[in-house]
Amino acid sequence: MIEVAGKYHYSGAIHMHTTESDGTVSLEQLAAIGQESGLDFMMVTDHMNLNNRAAGKEGIYGKTLVVIGYEHNDTADIHHYLIFGSPSVYPHTMTPKEYVAAAAKDGALGIIAHPDEIRNRMRNYPPYPWKDWDAVGFNGIEIWNQMSEWMERLTPYNKLVMAFSPRKSMVAPTDRVRAKWDELSLDGKCVGIAAVDAHAFPIPLGPFIVRIFPYKVHFKSLRSTIILDQPFAGDFATASAQLYDGLRNCRAYCANLRWGETDGFDFWAQSGTARAGMGESIRLTPDLRLHALLPAKARMVVVHNGLPMHEQTGRDLNLPISKPGIYRIEAWRGRRGWIFANHIRVNQ
Ligand SMILES: [Zn+2]
Ligand SMILES: [Zn+2]
Repeated sequence: MIEVAGKYHYSGAIHMHTTESDGTVSLEQLAAIGQESGLDFMMVTDHMNLNNRAAGKEGIYGKTLVVIGYEHNDTADIHHYLIFGSPSVYPHTMTPKEYVAAAAKDGALGIIAHPDEIRNRMRNYPPYPWKDWDAVGFNGIEIWNQMSEWMERLTPYNKLVMAFSPRKSMVAPTDRVRAKWDELSLDGKCVGIAAVDAHAFPIPLGPFIVRIFPYKVHFKSLRSTIILDQPFAGDFATASAQLYDGLRNCRAYCANLRWGETDGFDFWAQSGTARAGMGESIRLTPDLRLHALLPAKARMVVVHNGLPMHEQTGRDLNLPISKPGIYRIEAWRGRRGWIFANHIRVNQ
């Protein structure tokens, strides 16, 4: 955790599997790797079970908050949905509309996983995209999924190179998913998160079996950082509720740490003493300005209602704003996406 402008920034990893589904380590081993990697929080999501949670394994491990939800797969197995804080696992037979609504009704946090998968180059790894955009009640989407992006880029010919430079091979969330995120956010709150989707599963490469993406590599790459007014409480129930609230309210940004640490990053709108950070709203006034501070020089792109409106290279942004709508910022290093902040809403 670090303090930035009087707020508390927690950097964590979302979406990971243990041996309770297709992951390769136990919850205890996973929590130990997360602690070593300096994660402030970890959100565990085995497929269709809450066994680790039922075994009482949620908790605060050293300085790392470990919450346990699950990844819901319906019978068609094209819709994957991350659910946290539900009373139980919803029936496998429910349609996406039904389980999204059920989770919302139960006050659980729901995030659409890897909505954008389209790969068709490798027969053994079919895509699992999200199709049912009429579902109502989800809180956000994965704009970036490490395993998914890696798989999307995989061909029978580049397998070897990709296996030995898994972090470097990450580029950015796709234009399609960012456009979808903007479209959804125009209608209301929709948090964009970065997910690791860690399994550390072995992939056969010719005569070798390679463990692509050990968990530790994942935890040094795609992170989601949440922003809170108060530090995490010392008890698990309050701290996990704070984490879920931060996400629900889009007070978050995503980053690939491979292109630099993000400590100190901030993006906000200000008019006089009124200030709105990521996920917050502010009223349009003649002196309203957007600000950003980056830990290192990068190409910044400001996106307004889904359209790029300003671009500059540097470490800080100070941009007058004259239109209502939703604003977010992206930071790029060369053609590699580095930081993607959630929207600030400017009201008329
Ligand atoms: Zn999945
Ligand atoms: Zn998964």
